[in-house]
Amino acid sequence: MSPRGKDEHPAHRLGAMQTLPQPMRRYSDSEAVDYCIIGVGAAGGVLLQRLARAGFRVVGLEAGPFWDTEEDWVSDEKGSHKLYWNDLRITGGSHPLALGANNSGKGVGGGTVHWAAFTPRFHPSDFRIHTEDGVGADWPISYWDLKPWYELMEREMPVAGPAWFPWGDPHGHPYGPHPLAGVGDALVRGCTKLGIRCVAGGPVAILSASHGDRPHCIYRGFCLQGCKVGAKASTLITHVPDAVAHGGEVRAWSMASRIRLGDDGRVAGVFYFDREGREHFQRARAVIVSGYAIETPRLLFNSACPGHRHGLANSSGTLGRYLMAQAGNVIAGRFDELVRLYKGPPAHALSEEFYETDPRRGFARGFAIQTVGPLPVAFAKQMVAAMGAWGWGMRRVMMDYNHWNTLGVLGEILPWEDNRVELAEEKDRFGLPVAKVTFNLHDNDKKLIEFGKQKVMEIMWAAGAERVVQESRFAHLVGAARMGSDPSTSVVDRFGRTHDVANLFICDGSIFPTQGSANPGLTIQALAARTADYLISQGDAIFHSSKRDMKEPPCRQALSPPSTRFKGVPRIA
Ligand SMILES: Cc1cc2nc3c(=O)[nH]c(=O)nc-3n(C[C@H](O)[C@H](O)[C@H](O)COP(=O)(O)OP(=O)(O)OC[C@H]3O[C@@H](n4cnc5c(N)ncnc54)[C@H](O)[C@@H]3O)c2cc1C
Ligand code: SF4
Repeated sequence: MSPRGKDEHPAHRLGAMQTLPQPMRRYSDSEAVDYCIIGVGAAGGVLLQRLARAGFRVVGLEAGPFWDTEEDWVSDEKGSHKLYWNDLRITGGSHPLALGANNSGKGVGGGTVHWAAFTPRFHPSDFRIHTEDGVGADWPISYWDLKPWYELMEREMPVAGPAWFPWGDPHGHPYGPHPLAGVGDALVRGCTKLGIRCVAGGPVAILSASHGDRPHCIYRGFCLQGCKVGAKASTLITHVPDAVAHGGEVRAWSMASRIRLGDDGRVAGVFYFDREGREHFQRARAVIVSGYAIETPRLLFNSACPGHRHGLANSSGTLGRYLMAQAGNVIAGRFDELVRLYKGPPAHALSEEFYETDPRRGFARGFAIQTVGPLPVAFAKQMVAAMGAWGWGMRRVMMDYNHWNTLGVLGEILPWEDNRVELAEEKDRFGLPVAKVTFNLHDNDKKLIEFGKQKVMEIMWAAGAERVVQESRFAHLVGAARMGSDPSTSVVDRFGRTHDVANLFICDGSIFPTQGSANPGLTIQALAARTADYLISQGDAIFHSSKRDMKEPPCRQALSPPSTRFKGVPRIA
């Protein structure tokens, strides 16, 4: 990383052709901003952009760096480890989740810097699984409430994919699909042989044609390493530049430690540590926490104060509970012909044929099947778990890397009260208690995973694999500060406003009541754009009134970053 302060950099580069607008607006700690957003990731980046464009004084505190993609990023697996939240977290339960590189990012863009950018929408059924299947919980909003923002975010990233996506609410995509690479081949061949519908070439937030100042994908396979090219969408390059151009401030290396309430019981601002460990206090008229499903509850627990002894916004006792991860078993198949997993984006092709509940299977809900495409280091780790490869055995498998293909189960694990985030006794370098994550699989989850695993193995065999092995793992943490209409069983309302503190909002994956079998990123960003539209509709009332106006906001298309409206080839309405 450059020894210079990023903000003094004359041309802060965000991809092959993008530079950060200079200079960036600066607010002093003593100046009360309208909104202080904690975490500039998937949700935080969209919120910052919308609120800055709407004319609010807004600052985003980000614990990690403001990446300069030219100076900081490398197209190298090991060299990209710094993109993740690698700080200490404690994990436990009957099925402990791997943390670190398996979940959140640290730095502007958050998890969207290292995500694979698969961007399927949730199905309408995902919002009402308690009503439809008698499990989990219903969302306080429906798919149809969120649909306008799904369409908007698909244009802003933008999403490339098939002209006809047949599952859930069938739809098309703004950009055409990517060509099929080796990694998608097994899925298409195996599914075709078994008569299972699948799609190829997306939906994925990777450019299949140039877009504004960003070039199209060049199929070099380093998507999870950040994509130096700038073809893969991350809020670092899609929304943050526009936020900065409209007066939003991104304050990097700023670790929020505690949210402070004033004597009136309303949020007064946020304490945070800078890179040198100095503590500051940013005054704010309202605060939005967008720190990810682990750090969001951690910060709220660390903000406990008189009147909120068990954590801020936790009168329901549900803060930290109902944490979810999706089953992410990887099935690897060895083929006689060359596959070359590294060629092209790993997010490539999928099937949602098993997404919905089928009572004949003996469990509720379902799973998606997706291409995975690990680079060699990740593949080696999978081979240790899948076949105990080690020493000379590992060398032989790795020499054979180009003959392996990988498919993933993405399965819906239900929200359970005992899956949770709490505070551990261990502390970080600022003296803040770190998160302790407990995760257990329940009967429905185990049956679903077993069925999904067998189905994907069947597909791999049908594709012509001569050997098939599997690794059990989990992906995509959400929940732990769920939204709901009842303040006694949820943390935030349908717009992300905490039930307990009128000018405190949560907006990130932690507010999901359930998770479906779709990757969460598109839904997180759609929710963020909707929350921003709600806040804009409320104007100044958020800063002084405790009245909750529950009217749906209009979807403001005019707030899109430049070059994103009406771009691409409209596939279907
Ligand atoms: C390898 C991998 C591949 C993935 N692929 C996909 C995919 O293909 N499709 C998909 O939809 N999803 C994918 N995901 C998941 C996706 O990245 C996350 O679901 C998403 O980024 C979460 O968004 P968020 O806004 O909740 O949090 P994040 O995007 O993680 O943003 C949180 C931000 O808050 C900052 N922060 C946290 N605490 C503090 C604090 N106290 N003070 C200041 N800043 C703080 C963090 O540094 C971070 O930048 C993938 C994840 C991984 C690990
Ligand atoms: S495959 Fe495409 S999206 Fe992925 S890193 Fe390469 S250029 Fe970027």
